[in-house]
Amino acid sequence: MIEYIARKQDNIKKIVCNKCGRELELENGIAREDYCTVNKLWGYFSQRDGQRHRFELCEQCYEELIAGFLIPVENIEEKELI
Ligand SMILES: [Zn+2]
Repeated sequence: MIEYIARKQDNIKKIVCNKCGRELELENGIAREDYCTVNKLWGYFSQRDGQRHRFELCEQCYEELIAGFLIPVENIEEKELI
């Protein structure tokens, strides 16, 4: 969950991991650790057609989630980081 100051998406007030509830540390509106954002618009043939789900996971909760996958996530090494 990300809360913005005055609803401006470039002005982050708070980031909370939806799974564990831990608030990530911010410095000048920038997270001091990385996290995962899931932003999914459910479509036809789903039970949630038209619903957009968005949530954030801290790195630890992400690791716990993918550890339960039968097929590992695809891992593509990026050479150029922004
Ligand atoms: Zn977490």
